[in-house]
Order: sequence, then C-alpha cells, then structure tokens
Amino acid sequence: MDIDLLGLSQEQVSIWRVCRDFTDEIVIPFIRENREREWSAPPEKRWPKELLIAADKLGLRTVGLPEEYGGMKLDALTMVLIIEELARGDPGFAVTLSQNWKIPALFAGIAPKHLQDLWFPRYLDDPTFLWAHCLTEPRGASDRWLPHNVPEANMHTKADFKDGQWVLNGRKQFISNAYLASLYIVYANTNPDAPLQEGTSCFLVPRDTPGFHVVRENEKIGQNFIINAELFFEDCQIPEDHLLVKDTALKEAGSYFNAGKVLNAARALGIARSACEETATYIQDHTQGGKPIIQHQAIALRFAEMTTKLETVRVFVYNAARALDIGSANANLLGLMAKLYASETAFDICRHAMEIHGGSGAMREMGIEKHLRDSTILLHTDGTSDIHRLKIVKTMFPKTAGKYV
Ligand SMILES: Cc1cc2nc3c(=O)[nH]c(=O)nc-3n(C[C@H](O)[C@H](O)[C@H](O)COP(=O)(O)OP(=O)(O)OC[C@H]3O[C@@H](n4cnc5c(N)ncnc54)[C@H](O)[C@@H]3O)c2cc1C
Repeated sequence: MDIDLLGLSQEQVSIWRVCRDFTDEIVIPFIRENREREWSAPPEKRWPKELLIAADKLGLRTVGLPEEYGGMKLDALTMVLIIEELARGDPGFAVTLSQNWKIPALFAGIAPKHLQDLWFPRYLDDPTFLWAHCLTEPRGASDRWLPHNVPEANMHTKADFKDGQWVLNGRKQFISNAYLASLYIVYANTNPDAPLQEGTSCFLVPRDTPGFHVVRENEKIGQNFIINAELFFEDCQIPEDHLLVKDTALKEAGSYFNAGKVLNAARALGIARSACEETATYIQDHTQGGKPIIQHQAIALRFAEMTTKLETVRVFVYNAARALDIGSANANLLGLMAKLYASETAFDICRHAMEIHGGSGAMREMGIEKHLRDSTILLHTDGTSDIHRLKIVKTMFPKTAGKYV
C-alpha cells in the first residue's frame, strides 16, 4: 500500500524508511547467504549476532530502554513499523530485538533503581546482550494466559525465602532468547494457597547465578534465528533484592503482554509481506502453458486474495497500535484480535505463496517454505489462537462469558 495512505507522521515515515533499507540491504541478503546456517550450525553459531550488531549501529537495539539510560521513547505504531520491516527480512531476528525492547521496558517499571543502574549500562555497552522472559513450564501455560485463577493452576517453579535469600526450584521451557541470554526475568510460585494471580512472584536471575542451568535448546519448526531453550533451577540462590514483584507479578506484567500482542501481529504482517512480494515477482517471471503464470486465472485469483488479506492485516495491526498510543479502552481487545487475525491470516497467505511456487515452494533454496514454517510459530507464541478467541469473548463480556476453563 502507498505509505501516504497510512496517516503516518514525518518521523514515522523516516524511521520506516531507515528500517526498510536496512532490511533490503542487510537482513534479506544475510538470510539468503546463510540459509543453511538455520539447519547446520549449532545455536551459538546460528543466531544472527551480525544483524544485532548492525541494528545496534542504527540505534534499533536499545529503543526499549528508558531515555535516561540511553533509550528512545517511541510510540507503539513506530515500533510496529520497525518490527514489520525487520520481520519481512527475518521474524526470528525481529523477535530477538522485540524481546530486548519489551523485557527492559518491563524491568524499568518493576526493578529497584540500583539494579537498573547496574544492568542497563551493561546492556547498552554489549550488542550481544539478550534478555529472556520465563513464564512457561511443562504444565499449564494457557492457564496463565486466560488466566485460570485458582491455586491448582499455580506454577510448579517455587521460590522460598531462606536465610536471607530466595531459593528457586523448578523448570521453564520454550523460552525465547534463553539459550544465550545474559539476564532472565523468572516467574515462580511464592504462595501455594493463593490463586495464580495472587501467588506468583517474579525474580531477576543473571546467567551466572549458582543453581541456574540452561538444559538444552528447544529445536523448532521455524524462526530458527532466535534460539529457544529449556531452563532448570536447582536450589538456585537469589539475593533478596532480586525479587522484583511479590505475589502479583502476573498483573504487573500486563504492559509486557499488551505491547507483545501488537508486536507479534506486526511480525506476522512482515512474514506475510515477504510471501506476497516474492510471489508477485515469481508469477510474472515464471512461465507455464506458454505464458507467465499471472495470466492464468487461477493464479490471479489466489494472488488477489493474498494481497487483499495482507492489506486487511496491515490496517488491523496499525489500528491496534494506534489504540495503544491513544490509551483507548479497547486497546487490549484490539491487540488480542490483531494477534489472532494477523497470525492466522499470515499462515493462509504463506500457504498460498507456497502452492503458487509449485515444487520450488517446497525447496529450501527458494525461501518460500521458510515463510510458511516461520508463520506457524505465531499460532502458538504468547498464547495459542484458541486462547486468544476465549480471551476476546471474555474481554467483551466479562460478566457473562464464563470462565472458559
Ligand atoms: C517459539 C515459541 C517461543 C516462546 N517463547 C516464550 C517465552 O519467551 N517465554 C515464555 O514464557 N513462553 C514462551 N513460549 C510459550 C508459549 O507462550 C506457550 O507455548 C503457549 O502459551 C501455549 O502453551 P502450551 O505450549 O503449554 O500449550 P497448552 O497450554 O498445553 O495448550 C495445548 C492446547 O490446549 C488448548 N487449551 C489449553 N487450555 C485450554 C482451555 N482452558 N480451553 C480450551 N483450550 C485450551 C490450547 O489452545 C492448545 O491448543 C513460546 C512458545 C513458542 C512456540
């Protein structure tokens, strides 16, 4: 769509242009040149450190920090524009960055000043510094999203206060950035008798804390340029001041979750755009039946559907971001709807792209199959599609919708 139709400010258009050029000139060539690295390289060598260092030079890495620590105050729509462009290049790289915005922003809201003074300068100085946000356990992630607010749904990871420090025991899985992260925000039960929302606390856990272990990488179907891992806490001793929120941590994390919905939706939009853009080229260049395949009506109809859906996603996602920016009472609802709609629609668009590419769509060197694989991840992260559906109805009808559990 013509950028002039989108009602963006001058500043938003300038940032968008910088990110578009960065993606075209740096991210896309990097992914093309390193296609096999997704499969053959171990996690330490696979993650795209080079892209983070390049993004750092443009100031994109640190925008989530408070301004006094070197960050930049950006509105949600600008963040969406950046993530959409980066995800057009690679959604795994885009989420590496967006985790590194959202988690420091949460940390700024809940951590004591001396810990911010310690960690923000370290983050600023090291382009390879990663943050991880650790909620999910082998049991009951959806219970946390709904939430299913009863003591039976409490986390199995527990924290006890003993001899002046917190002792953490438990396991976390599916955690983005966790394999290589420097700093972790970890959620644990601190009151087994209270319901989930009233008995969950969160802690700051630096990587070198005794009793903290990165057990293994979680291999995924897609978005393999962000490394995901399983963590184990075995009598992990945490200083008293590393307790960030006592008992009500899931409520305090609301800002992280709400911003996360639109950023995830933007990621889906970026994937869908690449699938459409590459398909536009292919259908004009590739010939079957004596003519470019765009001239076959079945192809034209499919492509029209892909691009029309793409524009609906774009308008929806930008609108959800604007709702956050103006503090709309519907911002949360629109964020849920945008993430659900964008992720499911991106998956549909990528499936069409793959089919239109014929056998080439299934081949690694073409990159179309990567879009389809990458799009599947968004159906699960930050809550599944069905959990989003339940939360949408619950948000619209809080008194009559029932508990859905
Ligand atoms: C690539 C990736 C990255 C991730 N990154 C992170 C991260 O950084 N930090 C983090 O903490 N977590 C992370 N997650 C975890 C993610 O949030 C969870 O996987 C997701 O919320 C689903 O939880 P689950 O896997 O435990 O599935 P479950 O909760 O076991 O759900 C299984 C199925 O049951 C359905 N279901 C569950 N409860 C209900 C119900 N009450 N009613 C109807 N249907 C229900 C679900 O929709 C789903 O279809 C990540 C996951 C992935 C795939």
